[in-house]
Amino acid sequence: MATEFNYEVERASFEEETVLRIEEDNPAELTERPPVVTIMGHVDHGKTSLLDTIRKTRITEFEAGGITQHIGAYNVTTDKGQVAFLDTPGHEAFTAMRARGAKITDIVVLVVAADDGVMPQTLEAINHAKAAGVPIIVAINKIDKANADPDRVKRELAENGLTPEDWGGDTITVNVSAKQNQGINELLEMILLQAEVLELKANQKKMATGHVVEAKIDSGRGPVATVLVQEGTLKVGDPVVCGVQHGKIRAMLNDRGVPVESAGPSIPVEIIGLSGVPMAGDEFVALADEKDAKQVSLHRIQKQRSKELAKTSRLSLDKFYERMQQGDVKELKLIIKADVHGSIEALADSLTKLSNAEVKINVIHSATGTIAESDISLAAVSDAIIIGFNVRPIPKVQALANEENVDMRFYNVIYNVIKDVKDAMAGMMASTFEERILGRAEVREVFQVPKVGAIAGCYVTDGKIERGQLLRLIRDGVVHYEGKNASLRRFKDDVKEVQSGYECGIGIENYNDIKVGDIIECYYLEEIRPEIE
Ligand code: GDP
Repeated sequence: MATEFNYEVERASFEEETVLRIEEDNPAELTERPPVVTIMGHVDHGKTSLLDTIRKTRITEFEAGGITQHIGAYNVTTDKGQVAFLDTPGHEAFTAMRARGAKITDIVVLVVAADDGVMPQTLEAINHAKAAGVPIIVAINKIDKANADPDRVKRELAENGLTPEDWGGDTITVNVSAKQNQGINELLEMILLQAEVLELKANQKKMATGHVVEAKIDSGRGPVATVLVQEGTLKVGDPVVCGVQHGKIRAMLNDRGVPVESAGPSIPVEIIGLSGVPMAGDEFVALADEKDAKQVSLHRIQKQRSKELAKTSRLSLDKFYERMQQGDVKELKLIIKADVHGSIEALADSLTKLSNAEVKINVIHSATGTIAESDISLAAVSDAIIIGFNVRPIPKVQALANEENVDMRFYNVIYNVIKDVKDAMAGMMASTFEERILGRAEVREVFQVPKVGAIAGCYVTDGKIERGQLLRLIRDGVVHYEGKNASLRRFKDDVKEVQSGYECGIGIENYNDIKVGDIIECYYLEEIRPEIE
């Protein structure tokens, strides 16, 4: 129409893609790149020790007198090839990266102590790695210990879906001792072998792209970021966009603190010259023109603002049927946290049995104990729903769930969980009552009053406590009792409510087993009437 009126059409809106020009790679230009490894495992099983041993023995061997810097990642050279290690052990960092859309890790090394076996965080790590589709190599550590029992570890791994190769499965296991530097060569060999299977390739010849591993502000040097190059080659002087930041690379240091001029795929480097501190997990892209870098960065800041306004909608049980009808979801992913193992088994069993031709129910992670931040990140990246059975999260975790829009549901009767999931699958979710938390109080003292029973001397930590409302007693994150408020007093007077920051006496109807340190949560049920369309 414009031509008919003698006008020419020009695109006025800014499109990142046209500036960033992501080109297709010519397969002939792809060359092998080193694997990137993250170490995960249960606390105290030796993750940090293993990283340290690998770094000390492999790096100083090749670079006499080299001082290793902690920049968040490092590179190891063996005679069979190179390996890059991310220096932040643990699955929180791993999942936090993934939550930001960064797929950096090629291989997970799961550390299991031979004297301790598979523990809760081991299982959590397995589930996190599986959810990310990253292969796992198991390092059975501490084999120098007298009570080391690698066979027990293998048996426990097999019980949890990682059958070792020498038991007829396909999980590589290596016996190591981080302390005595045993088996480290073999572990590195296995990593390289696995990398060969993965056929990791990258094009070195184009402008670099990659992700931020760590970033900070350094007095004297300004914003400093450790980036892992994933494609292309990064050079000093390159203009870059890094998350919402931009800049021109003034200097680059490798993991030994030595200035370098360029870095290729799977090489971590510290870069200086950015406009501000980017976030771990941010993507960086090198561009030919500094003006373009600035424009992209400005555009991203704008986009970020509007994104913050319109929060991403995550899957909730209420919306499940709708999204299933639209063909968006074929699988309902659940994370189950419960007070005892028996409940998890019963729940997981009955829930998975609900799978039918249209939808599969998949329990991606389950563990005993309260809901933790790592559960929320796993739920956020996997679009899963969290089922809390007789457990309650602390306010910080609840706040994170709200921020991330993760649907958490709490139950104390197995039948109700099954019913809700069934109803959600049938599109008949009638959540007629929603819980509204009024406040929480901490029990500081317990008084036994004749004829009345136990009265909890409390301090209201947040919100308020209201007389006659519903209460639940939480001990170590686990719900111990659900009931009703029987009395609420300040000093000798009956009161209607007590605000946070004040002390009060709380009586619970028909319940006396109150202990110092318990948390009393006060709430009411709000009726949500079905919307009439
Ligand atoms: P992380 O919490 O997984 O990072 O574990 P650490 O690396 O901090 O190790 C926990 C403890 O186990 C430390 O006291 C280490 O000295 C010890 N440890 C680590 N590896 C070995 C090992 O191979 N043999 C022995 N005997 N002890 C080890």
